[in-house]
Amino acid sequence: MEAYRWLPFTPKTEPNLPAMPSKVLLAEPRGFCAGVEMAIKALTWMVKVFDPPVYCYHEIVHNAAVVQAFEAAGVVFVDDISEVPEGAPIMLSAHGSSPDVVAGANERAAVMVDAVCPLVTKVHHEVRRMASKGYDILYVGHEGHDEAIGALAEAPQATELVDPRIGMEAFASKDRTNVALLAQTTLGLYEWEGVLDEARSLYPDLWTARKSDLCYATTNRQSAVQALADRADVLLVVGSENSSNTQALVRVGRKAGVPSYRVDGPGDVDDAWLEGADVVGVTAGASAPDKRVQDVIAAIDPSEGVERLFLTEEDEYFPLPPQLRSLMETLQLLVEGGYGAPHGTDQGPIDLDREFSATEALDLLGL
Ligand code: SF4
Repeated sequence: MEAYRWLPFTPKTEPNLPAMPSKVLLAEPRGFCAGVEMAIKALTWMVKVFDPPVYCYHEIVHNAAVVQAFEAAGVVFVDDISEVPEGAPIMLSAHGSSPDVVAGANERAAVMVDAVCPLVTKVHHEVRRMASKGYDILYVGHEGHDEAIGALAEAPQATELVDPRIGMEAFASKDRTNVALLAQTTLGLYEWEGVLDEARSLYPDLWTARKSDLCYATTNRQSAVQALADRADVLLVVGSENSSNTQALVRVGRKAGVPSYRVDGPGDVDDAWLEGADVVGVTAGASAPDKRVQDVIAAIDPSEGVERLFLTEEDEYFPLPPQLRSLMETLQLLVEGGYGAPHGTDQGPIDLDREFSATEALDLLGL
């Protein structure tokens, strides 16, 4: 009778699949853009200057961790300006607000600071200008997004929303002559280009902005995702669910053929996503703090560490909102006067703003 030889038990493994990722490929640029930097620093100044509560119309930026940090520091976020008590300090979010909201905030507030990103303001200006010239404005954006609501409200009688997932289908039969096509700043580049092609074939004299409405941060981060997709087995995008540019990065990654997932932080990383992945691409939406990115990398724990995938340098800087600058200048003069300090000899916080980052500001708030 044949004797059985008992071999020691070895677990079943897939010989070609690494058990753990060996490398994180980290996109650069990623995370905070100049508009988010400005808005976070501005609200930090508000909570340092005023006793709580400071009111903020809409989430200052679409990131859960940032919003929670400000709530803990005494900021109350509201979706209706009438919820703000008369005389309270108010900040308006980076996404841009409708003219009614700006007027309402000005009426109620002792101090009103509008932290709208200048690149969103550019689109508001285009809406007003093209509407005043009698154009029909088609605005490509996501229904219900704060930025789209604010921009459309600049000229509601002249604007219609185009959902980039549907395209121009609903507009095909309409006979128009003067048509302008504008966009939310955070769209996926491929979504915008798809709608633009359709619109141009429908309206040969279509007007579009000379400088794209999609902002530099959106396009740079999406190009970086394209580059990550060439080398990564899986892509993690750090950012919150309601962040439009974060969701666009996920869509760009998936369109490029890489399994792509959004995570708010390390707790959202599902081990199953990383199974069999050797190289994990990591990037972050424009409102995601870099601390969250580092926490996610620590959770991945790549055996060979992190390689930066550098695409381009960003040196855009947006100064603090004018209302805040004049408030700070007044305070500085009062302090100098009160303490008998010589005027204009020292640099104040406004002069040093370029040197101060939103990450440092959040650090002051404990994030
Ligand atoms: S994503 Fe672009 S438009 Fe939005 S805040 Fe940042 S720079 Fe401004």
